[in-house]
Amino acid sequence: MARTAIVTGGSRGIGAAISIALKAAGYNVAANYAGNDEAAKKFTAETGIKTYKWSVADYDACVAGVKQVEAELGPVDILVNNAGITRDAMFHKMTPQQWKEVIDTNLSGVFNMSHPVWGGMRDRKFGRIITISSINGQKGQAGQVNYSSAKAGDIGFTKALAQEGARAGITVNVIAPGYIATEMVKAIDEKVLNERIIPQIPVGRLGEPEEIARCVVFLASDEAGFITGSTISANGGQYFA
Ligand code: NDP
Repeated sequence: MARTAIVTGGSRGIGAAISIALKAAGYNVAANYAGNDEAAKKFTAETGIKTYKWSVADYDACVAGVKQVEAELGPVDILVNNAGITRDAMFHKMTPQQWKEVIDTNLSGVFNMSHPVWGGMRDRKFGRIITISSINGQKGQAGQVNYSSAKAGDIGFTKALAQEGARAGITVNVIAPGYIATEMVKAIDEKVLNERIIPQIPVGRLGEPEEIARCVVFLASDEAGFITGSTISANGGQYFA
């Protein structure tokens, strides 16, 4: 029987590419999203992948969401924590609200989603938790104290949880992308992108969402069972962690 995967933020950007790649690899896929109903509707129409709306920042909503997906598609064996936001500001201008929103979604969201699926994975002696962190959680980035903190936290979360899951057949890993061509990155001023960001990337281009999706499909597979607690950097050579 096909395994079931939840991809948070799975209807747009990198998450959409991950949902599509997992479906192509034979998984039942539930693509979660937060509020963009129009994008979710379009995604389902184009791909046939069902979308589920809840915020990963809300623990109770995650518990209910996992329950709904399990009732409709079966036990969740694969969780991809991809949902993420930015609220950039230099630290002296960063508001407590900007700090909180990013930590709530990008770090607590990973707890909120991993916790409800953990018991089932332990019972079934199989699980894959794959979290999309960021190069900026590895190296730090001016204007992103909140985002860098959350994304670095995702790596610590993964290293600790990997040790708890190891004997239960559950692997827990992180992918840390560099700059990937999605709306999040296209929102950056074009001059900044072309003159400051792309020249820092040795391969000379942005990454494609599908390049991250392929890493996820590999980590989700049975063949990746010996890889746990790892961070895979996919950043065009920009930073060696
Ligand atoms: P996008 O902004 O293109 O898409 C973000 C997705 O996350 C959307 O589906 C959005 O839902 C969803 N989302 C946001 N907040 C929540 C929430 N509270 N609950 C559930 N879903 C939520 O982002 P990207 O595809 O660019 O980024 C995906 C991940 O990759 C993020 O974690 C990001 O930090 C990380 N990343 C991205 C890089 C890049 O260059 N793009 C580089 C490194 C890391 P909705 O459609 O409803 O808004």
